[in-house]
Parts: sequence; C-alpha cells; structure tokens
Amino acid sequence: HCGFVAIVGRPNVGKSTLMNHLIGQKVSITSKKAQTTRHRVNGIHTEDNAQFIFVDTPGFQTFHKGALNETLNKSVKDSLGSVDCVLFILEAMRISAADREVMALLPKHTPVILVINKLDKVKDKLLLQEFIDGVRAEFPFTDCEVVSAKHGQRLSELLDKVRPHL
Ligand code: GDP
Ligand code: MG
Repeated sequence: HCGFVAIVGRPNVGKSTLMNHLIGQKVSITSKKAQTTRHRVNGIHTEDNAQFIFVDTPGFQTFHKGALNETLNKSVKDSLGSVDCVLFILEAMRISAADREVMALLPKHTPVILVINKLDKVKDKLLLQEFIDGVRAEFPFTDCEVVSAKHGQRLSELLDKVRPHL
C-alpha cells in the first residue's frame, strides 16, 4: 500500500512538528505512484508493507495573507481531492475563523481525518470530548485522533487510522 497524505491546517497548529515526527529515515523504497507536480512532497514514511507520502498543497502557505480568490480556492480543492487521505489539524480546545477557512476547502469524496494536536496542553478530558464532538458536527470527518506532535504521543495510533486509506 502506498499513498499521498496531505497535512493541512492554519499556521501554528503543529503541521511541521507532526510531519517531522511522522517521517522516518527510511526513504529508500520509492513510490510506484506517479507523482504529480501539483503535490509538494515533504516526507516519506516507509513500513514493510506501506508507504506514506506526506505533502503540502500549493496555495496553503498564502492563507494567512488574506482572502483566497476563486482560482486559488479551486486549485487547493483540486489538489486535496487528488490525494488518498487528508489530515486536518486543529489545536485542542481552539477553533477559529482561520481554521474554518481551511475546513471549508476540505474535499467531500476523499477520507479526511481530524487530528487534534497539543494533547499535552489539555487538562480536562471531558471538555476535550465536547470540543471534538462539536468539531465533528461541522464536517463529516472519516475518523479522528488526538495526538501530541511535540511529544510524539499517539502517532502510531494516527498512522493506524491513515493506513487503510493508502
Ligand atoms: P505549523 O505552522 O502548523 O507548521 O506549526 P509548527 O509545527 O511550526 O508548530 C507551531 C508551534 O506549536 C511550535 O512552537 C511548536 O513547538 C508547537 N507545537 C507543535 N505541536 C505541539 C504539541 O503537540 N504540543 C505543544 N505544547 N506544542 C506544540
Ligand atoms: Mg509549518
């Protein structure tokens, strides 16, 4: 199994930190999948029987700079639709207009996994569950996992939820 996995979310949710922990050093096995120029590959995680190719999507870097025009909006949607799985990252207990701007671009026909990051900062697990339920009511996420990218917590559980979609 081999597939493209997009990591998306507003600045500062922990995308780079997550990516750094997810990718190993084993990059020797190369993908048989045609790599399109619309994807910017950031890292590859290889297992015995699976390969996760993590990508950024063109356009996402300019998010914070202002309103998205229709063309950019469409290009992001197209590239998100052509990966095998999308990880939508949120910071635990925080959702803002910037997060919802990204959420509005999530594809409807590709698995999207909600990743709640910065679990280490959460004191109240009951409030966390309420937060997650609220977010899941806003979009039909395929699955959800809570992680701490910084401390490397629950990342294997996250990969377990991505693997079936490769
Ligand atoms: P990006 O802009 O989405 O790529 O976010 P970064 O990966 O650059 O992280 C933004 C900030 O959040 C940095 O200061 C990270 O150290 C911090 N951060 C990322 N993941 C975690 C986490 O799991 N827990 C905590 N406490 N901080 C985190
Ligand atoms: Mg980053």
